[in-house]
Amino acid sequence: MKTKESYLRQLPSVDELLKEAVVLKWLEEHPRALVLEALRMAIEEKRKSVLKIDEAKGLQPLAFSLQPENIINRAEEILNTLSQLNLRPVINATGVIVHTNLGRSILSEGAVKNIEAVAKGYSNLEYDIEKGERGKRYHHIEKLLCRLTGAEAGFVVNNNAAAVLIALNTLAQNKEVIVSRGELVEIGGSFRIPEVMERSNARLREVGATNKTHLKDYEKAVNDNTALLLKVHTSNYKIVGFAKEVAISELVGLGKKKNLPVMFDLGSGCLIDLRKYGIEGEPTVSEALDAGADIITFSGDKLLGGPQAGLFVGKKKYIDMIVNNPLSRAIRIDKLTLAGLEATLREYLDEEKAVKNIPTLYMLCQTLPEIEIKAVYIADGLKTASNRFEVSVIDETSQSGGGALPLVNLQTKVVAILPKGFSATAFEEMLRKNNPPIIGRIKEGRILLDPRTIQRDELDTVINSIRDIVSRLSAYL
Ligand SMILES: *Cc1c(COP(=O)(O)O)cnc(C)c1O
Repeated sequence: MKTKESYLRQLPSVDELLKEAVVLKWLEEHPRALVLEALRMAIEEKRKSVLKIDEAKGLQPLAFSLQPENIINRAEEILNTLSQLNLRPVINATGVIVHTNLGRSILSEGAVKNIEAVAKGYSNLEYDIEKGERGKRYHHIEKLLCRLTGAEAGFVVNNNAAAVLIALNTLAQNKEVIVSRGELVEIGGSFRIPEVMERSNARLREVGATNKTHLKDYEKAVNDNTALLLKVHTSNYKIVGFAKEVAISELVGLGKKKNLPVMFDLGSGCLIDLRKYGIEGEPTVSEALDAGADIITFSGDKLLGGPQAGLFVGKKKYIDMIVNNPLSRAIRIDKLTLAGLEATLREYLDEEKAVKNIPTLYMLCQTLPEIEIKAVYIADGLKTASNRFEVSVIDETSQSGGGALPLVNLQTKVVAILPKGFSATAFEEMLRKNNPPIIGRIKEGRILLDPRTIQRDELDTVINSIRDIVSRLSAYL
């Protein structure tokens, strides 16, 4: 009679497996440490399944095999997973354009090329080629920012959260900042205006009510300790109904009267007027400047469509103070980001090109017929694949995402897949675990793939991956 112990004794050791020809071949292609780990993990899995056997029920012939080939096959799967890069591309079929979990904006070709060029060699990152002396890293984009927005000065740091932090710390350390209760924004990932303010050593002075704040609420709160009036764009939500917020221009009027600077945290930082493309509700950086805001902060990777960055535009006097804050070194922008950001900003010199070349803007402004062509292409590619699902193209809505345009639903056409004989959740999981992962969503038992965020060169990968997955799933049915 077999006992657990006898099964355990049957398990090969790592050293024994290392002598196998296939394993020796792995060692030519993979680091030894990963091969050893994969073998150890595969053996351990088998050991655990042996230990789980209930001896009291009498030992059944094992449902799993302890033969070396089986363990080696499993180790190969593990090795392939271990050898994959952790951070890797995925296909975004969610229709959410600025998807924070999926890396927010994807970059224009120009931006990618410039990043590569600057990464491969030395650069004039902090070197003034004209003068042959030390230069400043943010100078590469300051003039460009001023030209695009009409600002007096500009600056850039690691991200917008850092921009808000250093601005508050510079302008209002140990002093009060007046903010409306309707604008105490939380952005995903624990960025909350009140908490950032606390860490910046500025004191929050909330005014108004959640739904309504009037100019007189700000005015009444001003005292000798007030350092700044702050407006925060409620980028990821909107208070509607019985509501009132104070426009930036009104706040600027109050600032002038009381001799206080006014800052506007715009969040997304849209550089072009999206109304032209039928999208309402996102203020542009230039509008905020024209209204007289002294300092405006915004993200590089939201609607701007560049890499992660925090940008400032505004009055030189205040920008200079921020640049000279020692904290600026701790949150400085990296050279690869700067390379991508400059190339992205350059696209905006010609708005038509920007809308075509910057993927975030392109996906936002895509027309329904353009999206439908992609949807039909995917659906046609799947029609003959299997009788295990039904494919159709249906009307849906996509979202801008990234905490921008919360009220805008963009009309789209999605590929809807209704699985037959297996569940939508099982299918969604296989899509997600595909290489490359394909991220869609489930609605009413169907998988929805929104081509708005699927790039042209990804369409065939989507089709082929789904055909593959379904044939694998069908094999089990
Ligand atoms: C997104 C956002 C931030 C944070 O910007 P990051 O670039 O993600 O650091 C701050 N304020 C507002 C209003 C935002 O929308």
